[in-house]
Amino acid sequence: MAYPRIVLHLDMNSYFASVEQQANPLWRGKALGVAAGLYRGACLIATSKEAKAKGIVTGMRVVDGLTRDPALVIVEVDPAKYRSATERIFAIMAQESEQIETYSIDEAFLDLTGWVQSLDEAATIGWRIQRRIHDEVAEWLTASAGVAPTRWLAKFASDTAPKGQLVVLEQKHLAAYLAGRELTEAWGIARRLECRLKALGIHTLGELRRYPVTNLIASLGVRGYELWANVNGIEVGTVTMQGLPKSIGHSHVLKQRTKDLGFSQRVLMKLAERTGRRLRSLDLEGHEFWLWFSTAEGGGGGGRRLSFQPIVDSRTIFRLAWTCFAPQASGQTPSALALGLGRLRPRSRQAALWPERRDLLHLAAALDALNDRYGEQTVVYGAQFGLSDEHAPDRIGFRKTVSWDVPLDQMLANGYNGSRHGPDRSPP
Ligand SMILES: [Mg+2]
Repeated sequence: MAYPRIVLHLDMNSYFASVEQQANPLWRGKALGVAAGLYRGACLIATSKEAKAKGIVTGMRVVDGLTRDPALVIVEVDPAKYRSATERIFAIMAQESEQIETYSIDEAFLDLTGWVQSLDEAATIGWRIQRRIHDEVAEWLTASAGVAPTRWLAKFASDTAPKGQLVVLEQKHLAAYLAGRELTEAWGIARRLECRLKALGIHTLGELRRYPVTNLIASLGVRGYELWANVNGIEVGTVTMQGLPKSIGHSHVLKQRTKDLGFSQRVLMKLAERTGRRLRSLDLEGHEFWLWFSTAEGGGGGGRRLSFQPIVDSRTIFRLAWTCFAPQASGQTPSALALGLGRLRPRSRQAALWPERRDLLHLAAALDALNDRYGEQTVVYGAQFGLSDEHAPDRIGFRKTVSWDVPLDQMLANGYNGSRHGPDRSPP
C-alpha cells in the first residue's frame, strides 16, 4: 500500500564546525568551537563532535569551553563559508526532488510523495544524498536523515537518528519509537511547553501520544491538537507550513504629528510589544522582520531583514525597528508606522543559544506572565511609558490573522476558542 505522503528530512551534523574542519584538515578530529568573536566572553555558536564529547556545547562561552579543554580550537564564525557549502548541498537535493523546502542553513525537507512508492525507496534517495554530499561537496561533512509519512515525523526521525545515519519511521513502529522519550526531544517542545504538559500529567512522548486529544485542545488550544497529531503521525501542515499564520504585525496611524522621533520611538516599542506578545502566545518565532512608515511630508520608507537568529522577544523586535526607522525618518514627520514578522515557525530552542538574548527571553516570559494574569499593558517597557492607550490601540483581532490548516470547526466544538489559555480564561 502506498503511503499518503512520503517526506525526507536532512540535517547536517555539527555543521559550522564541520565546515571549518573541512577547510583546515589540521583541525579534523580535534575539539573545535565556532565563536561569535575571538574573545573570552564570546558565545560558542557551534562545536565539533569531538568538542561535544567533552561536554563543550553550543551556547557556552569561549572561556568555559577552554576550561573544559585548554586545547580547544576557537574559530571565528564565517557565514560566507557556510553559505557556499550550503548552496552545493542544496543543489544536490534539488536534483533529487522538485519539492524541496530549505528550512535553515543546514536543513531541508524533501516531499517525495508521488515520486517514490514506499518509505524504503525514499530511504534509498536519502542514502544517495548522504553519499553525494560526502563525494561531491566535502568528505568531512555528514548529514542525519529521517524518512516518515509526515513532515514532523521526518524531522523527528533525523533529530533522533545516530549522526550521519538515516532512520525510517513507519506508522506501525511509532508507538514503540516514542515510548519513554523525553518531551523535549520532540521538535517544537521547549521547556515552557514541557512544564505545561507535565502539569497535565504527561511526562513522555509516549504518554502525549495516548493522551485524550479533547483534553489537550481544552488546555492548549490549537497547539494541543498539533502536538497530539504530530506524535500520532497525522499531518497538520504541508511542507509549506500552511498551519501557521504567515506573518504577525501591527500598524498605527499617528494622531500626534511631530518631528520628535522620541514619540515615534514609544509607538514603535508598543507595536513591537504587541507583535511580540502575539508571537509568543502562539509559541512561534520569526525569521524575517519588516517595517514601513509614511510621513506628513508625503514620503516614507522602511525595510525588510532576514534573521538567521530566531526573533522572539519584544526588545529585539523594537531594536530591529529602531535601527531601520531612525536613520531614514530623521528630520521628517512620521504619520503612520507598521512593523511585523514573517517566516514564522514553531518555537525552537535555538533562540536561547545567544546569551545576550537569553535574559531578554526570561524578561519577556516574566512580562507575559504578569500581563496574562492582570490584563494587557499591566507592565510595559520603559520606552512605552507615558504613551496613553489611544496611541497604537490593539485593534487587530486575533483570528483575522490566523488561518489554520486543521479542522477548526471540530476544534471549536471541542472548546477551542482562539486562545491558548483554555476555556477558564476566555468567555464561552
Ligand atoms: Mg544541523
